[in-house]
Amino acid sequence: MLDSSELEKSFEPRKRVVIGVIGATCLLVLIIGFLLWWVPSVGLSSIHPTLPAVLGVIVAVTSLIILGGLSLLILTLLLGRDLFFSQRLRGIVIKYLFSVITALGRLLGVDKDKLQQSFIALNNELVRSKKLRVPANRVMILLPHCVQLFDCAIKITGDVNQCVACGRCDIQGLARVAKAYGVDIAVATGGTIARKLIVERRPKLILAVACERDLTSGIRDTYPLPVIGIHNRRPNGPCFNTRVVVEEVEQVLREHIVSE
Ligand code: SF4
Repeated sequence: MLDSSELEKSFEPRKRVVIGVIGATCLLVLIIGFLLWWVPSVGLSSIHPTLPAVLGVIVAVTSLIILGGLSLLILTLLLGRDLFFSQRLRGIVIKYLFSVITALGRLLGVDKDKLQQSFIALNNELVRSKKLRVPANRVMILLPHCVQLFDCAIKITGDVNQCVACGRCDIQGLARVAKAYGVDIAVATGGTIARKLIVERRPKLILAVACERDLTSGIRDTYPLPVIGIHNRRPNGPCFNTRVVVEEVEQVLREHIVSE
């Protein structure tokens, strides 16, 4: 079994990719803004000579608002601090920007996994920038069932604490960390179960572990609930004996738990 440091090496934060894609989006906004002004302005000037200027002002103000939001996003990412409207920015990123990032990333030939990792990194930074401090009993670690060793005879989907800590998979470390910090930990076998667990246990912060695809849809589905996503590692292929860097989970807990 690979240890955590080896797992860590195979992945790196995708912040740079997402900043690049946001930069490209800024450029696209400028180009579209210019075209939206330039194409109709010829016809408009024949109606009234001031109309192109009026349209220019409208397009310029709209473009500036969009560029301002995107610049704020880049600054929040670079500084890791809640500057302004980070909750609203997160909503815009989740509802709209992700689709733009995906389309643009595809156009630029960026790998889908990398794009989703970028979205997750972007979401995490925006949640982190809020510097949330939550009581341990309102934090939930949500795991996919593929983290458990495939041929483990113990059924942990109902209760992770059934694990007898044999050490053959990362459930051992994750259950230990959850116990040490006093946080809820659960395994979801799919999106429906995950949603049910969230409704029942009403966490204020979710630390979700899953593949990029499931994290992306989970983060979008559960908005506005703050979710920090940690993608699992798949040295054995998808959905089979996947791995988690337990230190990453512990780091998030250290950052966000407040003692009551
Ligand atoms: S660590 Fe726990 S869940 Fe993993 S194989 Fe051992 S008993 Fe099963």
